[in-house]
Amino acid sequence: TLDKQFFGNCLSKMAELAEENRDYWTKLDSDIGDGDHGINLSIGFRAVSGQLAENLENTDDITGLLKKSGMLLLSKVGGASGPLYGSFFIKMGKDVVGKTTINFPEFVGMIKNGVDAIQFRGKSELGEKTMLDALLPGVAYLEEHIEEEPLVVMEQAVAIMREGAESTIPLIAKKGRAMRLGERAIGHKDPGSESSWMLMNVFLEEMK
Ligand code: ADP
Ligand code: MG
Ligand code: MG
Repeated sequence: TLDKQFFGNCLSKMAELAEENRDYWTKLDSDIGDGDHGINLSIGFRAVSGQLAENLENTDDITGLLKKSGMLLLSKVGGASGPLYGSFFIKMGKDVVGKTTINFPEFVGMIKNGVDAIQFRGKSELGEKTMLDALLPGVAYLEEHIEEEPLVVMEQAVAIMREGAESTIPLIAKKGRAMRLGERAIGHKDPGSESSWMLMNVFLEEMK
């Protein structure tokens, strides 16, 4: 069931993921950025997991839990990814206010709202070598297959997001720090695109 505890479990697993991949994401960012992406997400999700029990206790609905968690990411992370992922979680639940359980189409709507918020905040489009290159094609797939078997659809969407992250390798960056590198960014994967498909994979794993 996609209830408040499900989302709590996902946030907790995302915090574990951020610890496990801290060095990996930081390495990707040291190739084309300032080498802190893993550190940023580890700091942010440590705050989220540290407050998780309290936030589960003090919120009535899924929206509230995600909003409080997103606010922590937004306020604790210095880099660009904090406000971007923060916005994702803050806006994710905006259409399911008051709900403690949701269905799969509502879940798809939540991912869509979250990614829209990243896009709004980052003013970025597909093909600019950012996390959106992973997220946007996955969201499009989810919306096209919203009525089908949730686990199958989610599995495919995450696979598409993973390919989206790979697709950033040959690109020149049009947003973020990697922009300054121009053609030197070619041949490197965007760190945010890698962390984002991996974070979305946590939802998939928790649905199983
Ligand atoms: P910073 O670049 O401030 O050090 P991070 O290293 O934590 O922050 O995050 C960098 C990632 O943020 C990039 O790999 C990219 O995916 C994402 N990003 C940066 N700017 C934007 C933007 N305008 N829109 C979408 N994603 C962005
Ligand atoms: Mg960085
Ligand atoms: Mg930085």
